[in-house]
Amino acid sequence: MIHFSLRILANGALLPSRRTPPLPDTASVLEQIDRLAASPLKEIAERLRKDLSDAEASTRSGHTAAADFILVYNRVKELLAGLPSSFGQRFFFDAALIQALSETWSSTAVKIPQMVIPRPAAVSATDGMALSEDERTGQRIFFMMIPGRDDLADIDLRTYPFMCHELVHVLLFKVNGVFTKAFESELDEYVRKLRLSSAADRGIARNRSKEAAARIEKLWRPTPNHKNWSHELAIDVIALWTTGPAYLDAYRNAIEVDTVQPYEVVQTHPPHAVRVQAMIHASKELGWPIQALEGKLAGWKKAFRTTNPYASAANQEVILAGVRAALSTCQTLRLPKCTPDRLKETKALIHRGETPSFGMDVIWSAWIKSASPHYDEWEADFIAGLLGLIR
Ligand SMILES: [Zn+2]
Repeated sequence: MIHFSLRILANGALLPSRRTPPLPDTASVLEQIDRLAASPLKEIAERLRKDLSDAEASTRSGHTAAADFILVYNRVKELLAGLPSSFGQRFFFDAALIQALSETWSSTAVKIPQMVIPRPAAVSATDGMALSEDERTGQRIFFMMIPGRDDLADIDLRTYPFMCHELVHVLLFKVNGVFTKAFESELDEYVRKLRLSSAADRGIARNRSKEAAARIEKLWRPTPNHKNWSHELAIDVIALWTTGPAYLDAYRNAIEVDTVQPYEVVQTHPPHAVRVQAMIHASKELGWPIQALEGKLAGWKKAFRTTNPYASAANQEVILAGVRAALSTCQTLRLPKCTPDRLKETKALIHRGETPSFGMDVIWSAWIKSASPHYDEWEADFIAGLLGLIR
C-alpha cells in the first residue's frame, strides 16, 4: 500500500476569498512542536516552527493572504499528526537501518533523501509530505510505516526485505523519470497496437479489445502517486535487484495466507499473480531460483479462476516491458546488486559470530538464519548486538 500527498503550494492569487478569515490559534500546535523539539526529531520541530512563524509574520504584515497562513498551519498540523509519538529502542534501530540502506544505495547517480522516518503501523507503506515554503527550499519528509509497535519484541527481520521495497518508493519519488521514460515508450507502443487491432475488429470483439486498451491504460500508466501497476511491479523488481533471494522469500511468506486473492484487480497494486510473474522474469535475469514461485503460480491456477478484467490487464508484453524498464533503472541509478558472492561474505561473517554493521548485511543475516530452529533467540541476540553499535 502506498499513500503519497504532494505539497500544495500556497498561492494567494488563486484564492477566491475577499474577506480575511480569522487566523487560527497556534498555541496547541506550538505546544506539540515544543514536545517534538525534545525528541530525536528536533530538526523537524525547528523547521516546522520556522514555517509557521514565517507564514504568520507574512500574513500579519499583509504580504500574503490569511488563507495562505491557514494552508501552512493545516499542513504543519497534518505533519505533526503523522510523526511517531514514541521513540523507543525500536525507533532507533529502524532509523539506523533505513539510514544505512539509504547511504548504501545513494551514489553519484542518485541521492536518497535523509528524512525517512520509521513509524509503527499495521502494514508496510510509505507516505511523503513536504516541509517548508517554496519549491527551492522545500524538502520532503517520508514516513515509512513498519508493521508492529515501537517495541523490539515486534521486530521480525525476516519481513524487513519490505523495508527495501518501501525505500525504493522513496527512491522513485526522487528520480521518477528514469523508470517512467523507459516504460512509457513501450506502453504507448503496446496500447497503440491494441487500438489499431480493435479498429479492425467487429461487434463484441471490437468492444472487448477497446475495453482492454482502456483498462491497460488506466491500471498501468505511471502516476506521480505510485498508485498504479507499473510502479509497484518495478518496485518489486528493483527491491529484488538490491535484496536478492531474501526478497523472494519474504514475498512468498507474505502470500502464504488464506485470504490471498491472486487475481484480484485493484488500481493500487498489480494482482499477486502479476507480481509473481514479474519476479520470475526478473529472477531469471538475475540468476535467482524460481521453482518456489512457479509452484505458487501453478497452485493458484488450480485453486482460483481468473476473471475477464484480470485476463485483459495482466498482459505478458506489458509485464515484460515493466521488468525490463525496472532492471534498466537499477543500472542507470547504479544501485548495488545482491550477488551470490555478496551473500557468501555475509554467511562467513555470521559463521564467525560477528555483528555486521547496519545495512543489507542485517537483512541478509536474518534470511540466512531464517531456517534455524533457534531463529528467535538468534534474532534477539543479533538485534541487541546491533543496538550496541548505536548507543
Ligand atoms: Zn509498494
